[in-house]
Amino acid sequence: MKLGIVGLPNVGKSTLFNAITNAGAQAANYPFCTIEPNVGVVAVPDERLDKLAEMYDPDKVTPATIEFVDIAGLVRGAANGEGLGNKFLSHIREVDAIIHVVRCFEDGEIVHVDGSINPKRDIETINYELILSDIDILDRRIDRAVKALKGDKKYQTEVDMLQRLKAYLETGASARGFECESDAEREIFADIPLLSAKPVIYAANMSEAEFTEGIEGNPYLAQVQEIAAAEGAEVVPICARLEEEITDMTKEEKLMFLEELGLHESGLDRLIKASYALLGLISYLTAGKQEVRAWTITKGTKAPQAAGKIHSDFERGFIRAEVVSYDNLMACGSMAAAKEKGLVGSEGKDYVMKDGDIVLFRFNV
Ligand code: GDP
Repeated sequence: MKLGIVGLPNVGKSTLFNAITNAGAQAANYPFCTIEPNVGVVAVPDERLDKLAEMYDPDKVTPATIEFVDIAGLVRGAANGEGLGNKFLSHIREVDAIIHVVRCFEDGEIVHVDGSINPKRDIETINYELILSDIDILDRRIDRAVKALKGDKKYQTEVDMLQRLKAYLETGASARGFECESDAEREIFADIPLLSAKPVIYAANMSEAEFTEGIEGNPYLAQVQEIAAAEGAEVVPICARLEEEITDMTKEEKLMFLEELGLHESGLDRLIKASYALLGLISYLTAGKQEVRAWTITKGTKAPQAAGKIHSDFERGFIRAEVVSYDNLMACGSMAAAKEKGLVGSEGKDYVMKDGDIVLFRFNV
């Protein structure tokens, strides 16, 4: 799963991206890899792995991971080919969701491309480029559907829906807020690769002072929240500079530092968790002396397909899954005790996996 970091110049994208890649490099036991200079892999924070590691004392602990892509270079006019416009837009096409960094910090030393701090205008500038590119795509689809309609009446639904969608985008609204009126429409909608329909998290980049002294009532943050609420999107306040500063610290140092500032968790950790949730992802866990590990699946995944994440043989030869919830295992103190209490279930191929399930798969080879 890939998330693209977008935003206007000088809003803190690179700073956030550096924090992310450093965090990836620091994550214990996870071999950080740079796939491309602008792609970073980061561990999904999961306290359950630490607790399981205490219980099993494993040789290694492997967290789930998520990929971030730094998509720099968006300027006003990108959809018309301005700057690296087209390249930028094609990068967004490849990601599953968007982290939209919005500048909410004042700093006279750091110029704003449009001269002042105004999150609402900035968000609209970026979204406008995505919407323009979507309208281009729609125009082509509408042409095709209108031609098809001449030969077959069944295309009427598609033509009507595409035109309604285009009119909606022309009001400056992102496609993710568009409401389909039937399953047929939903199917057509899902088939169009619209940039402004991608799920988004707004990362409100605040000054260190405002981030640590209380973010409530911050007028810039409020602007972002208002736009996000209208779209049903989420806002995560961060301070990119602070995140960058703490990436060199050990886990303990980081915790102490954050506690001193009255924070329980870094903004980056919250951003990673929110991204995971936004994409509908959950983790199941495997635990043993060799390795304690989190595996990423989408919500609703059944046991055999979940087993397939480990190895395709596990899915092909799936017999059953022995499953205990994380909470039950912790309450019992050991797998043996959980078994004794009858809390380890033997689940078949229709079992729908839950977040935090601790699993041992039984399979034929
Ligand atoms: P990008 O163009 O969006 O990638 O922006 P950068 O990450 O390069 O940041 C632009 C400038 O803003 C740099 O000088 C950063 O140090 C500064 N900056 C980034 N985040 C913060 C922040 O949270 N607070 C302050 N005061 N400055 C920041």
